[in-house]
Amino acid sequence: MNREEAHRKRVPLYAKILLGMGLGLGFGFLALALHWEGFVHDWVAPWGDIFMRLLKLIAVPLVLVSLILGVVNLKDIRNLSRIGLKTILIYVCTTILAVSIGLGMVSVIKPGKVFPKDRQTEFMERYQQTVVEREAQMQQVKDESPLQFVVDMVPENLFKALGDNSKMLQIIFFALLFGVALIVVGPSKVPSLVRFFQQLNLVLLKIIDFIMAFAPYGVFALMSALIVDYAGDVGIFSALGLYALTVVLALAVIILLVYPFIMRVFGKRTMKQFFKAAAPVQMLAFTTSSSAATLPLTMERTQMHLGVSEEVSSFVLPVGVTINMDGTSCYQAVAAVFLAQVLGLDLTFGQMLLILATATISSIGTPGIPGGSIVMLMIVLDSVGIPIEGLALILGIDRPLDMLRTVVNVTGDMTVSCVVDEGNKTKTADHEA
Ligand code: ASP
Repeated sequence: MNREEAHRKRVPLYAKILLGMGLGLGFGFLALALHWEGFVHDWVAPWGDIFMRLLKLIAVPLVLVSLILGVVNLKDIRNLSRIGLKTILIYVCTTILAVSIGLGMVSVIKPGKVFPKDRQTEFMERYQQTVVEREAQMQQVKDESPLQFVVDMVPENLFKALGDNSKMLQIIFFALLFGVALIVVGPSKVPSLVRFFQQLNLVLLKIIDFIMAFAPYGVFALMSALIVDYAGDVGIFSALGLYALTVVLALAVIILLVYPFIMRVFGKRTMKQFFKAAAPVQMLAFTTSSSAATLPLTMERTQMHLGVSEEVSSFVLPVGVTINMDGTSCYQAVAAVFLAQVLGLDLTFGQMLLILATATISSIGTPGIPGGSIVMLMIVLDSVGIPIEGLALILGIDRPLDMLRTVVNVTGDMTVSCVVDEGNKTKTADHEA
């Protein structure tokens, strides 16, 4: 190890990202105080955009290559269906649990009952335009057949799917199809193709290393730009404080109680080990508000620091980033009930169950991008007859809550990959015995 390497090893990634976040936060406030908004906008924010672009750039090839390799590594279609079914089942269970926690919390705290009525009109006017835009998107989704989401999973053109980051499910579909075909043909018959993907994977991982070296600076730029952009909305916090607190509490229960419990009992990792591995991932999720953009780091930390086999992580994580969103589904439940409370609508038990079902399903369809769940939230609201215009009330505070729910989303994926990995180890040991 040369001196430079030794020096780099001394400062762990999470510390560097944390420093970037802290400095970015401080610099954002300083810029506000000194009226340097223009400077931040012109000279600092672009570095954050570049960082986000790099993360998105690598997300699609990473999902494709690691999923194909993930399937090939399973060696057998039976292993794929076993791990696949188990993964999806655990994902659905954690999501239902997350929504239930959200529903419980918002029903006990009742933040909608104390919302100042005089702020209602103000927010409605301010965010009306955005609501109208999202409503058009929602109408499009609603006019389609209920099976449209299954149809949408199947790409008609691979290159179009690869050219559009929001088509992650299509890429997953193709990768699974390709991987399965490869297993059936037999990797020994096409060794150079398998080697090609393995070598491509190595190069992609190196690119991720490069991007991560830039992470502290990217995070600095994202944070300071966020503070400057958000400054005008500070008043929103006072009115929506209790609502935000409810979301934060529900998310905290999931991250501090539910996941550590699952991790201890089924994932066989200590809390310390888990959070040490997850910290940089959580910080990146927080600053980027995108679980898809965080995926490269999630994969690296889960394999290298939690010891989850490549076989499991390269399957469970790319799938999880697309379909498993515990933070998002929990948030949707809180938001829906909060709006019902503000608008004076009493929800029946049946309607609560409907929220449970729609929030679970809609989180599966939510893309892992900033604000990805807003359109899906409209579908939840609509299912129980809460006027979607109510969304205007909460849009102003969405970004900080988005940052937090994204942290929960990625932590959930990491947790489940440990659980599936443990189950897989036991199964493999049984087979070998
Ligand atoms: N930003 C979230 C994510 O990427 C999705 C959302 O809840 O809006 O995981």
